[in-house]
Amino acid sequence: MKESIGSFGKKAALGLGLLVGVSEVGDAQVASLRGSAVSQIKQNKEADKEHLTRIKNEKGLVKMENDGYLVKISQEVHLSQSLQGKPENCFVRPWTNTFLVRFTHQFENKFGTGTAPEVSSAVRTIEQQKDLKNKYHNNNAASTSGPKASSHPTGSTIDLKKKGLSKEELAWTRKVLLSLEQRGLIEATEEHGQECFHIMVFEKYGEYVTKKK
Ligand SMILES: [Zn+2]
Repeated sequence: MKESIGSFGKKAALGLGLLVGVSEVGDAQVASLRGSAVSQIKQNKEADKEHLTRIKNEKGLVKMENDGYLVKISQEVHLSQSLQGKPENCFVRPWTNTFLVRFTHQFENKFGTGTAPEVSSAVRTIEQQKDLKNKYHNNNAASTSGPKASSHPTGSTIDLKKKGLSKEELAWTRKVLLSLEQRGLIEATEEHGQECFHIMVFEKYGEYVTKKK
């Protein structure tokens, strides 16, 4: 296991060199990590383009997991304690898991084993999203329907905890996320009042990784 991680790490490091070296932006749109209505709308447009189901309730969630549309997050990725307490929510789309595994390896290759940030949220059902918004009066929680709805019910989106990251680690993470966003492979936001990076990974990220191999 360790060996395979090591070789992956080297490959990942090479890949990262390429990533960070890129400075051109495809169109006039400048990538930014600022959360906005525009970013929310982009996430929903992408979800529609990829024909992603928004998972309504627990029954739907279990079915998506059993049918293989969602995969359990790989064990080398760190999960927050609260997420670990909800095993049925420790699932994402396969390409999102690929992103998490690569990000974790690249991060730990640079900053050391065990240093990568924790995932604090992954797939959420629309019902759970409603609870977040209503029960806990969480004003930061996105809507449950419409063009500005949260993308968590698609299973493509995760939140990465910023807590505990050093300045250097935060700066590196921002650079990596921006670079991937510039390539149109993810849509990431970082609200300064909040404690995480919110990242929707696009299906084509999976193709991009396959091509690099
Ligand atoms: Zn989020």
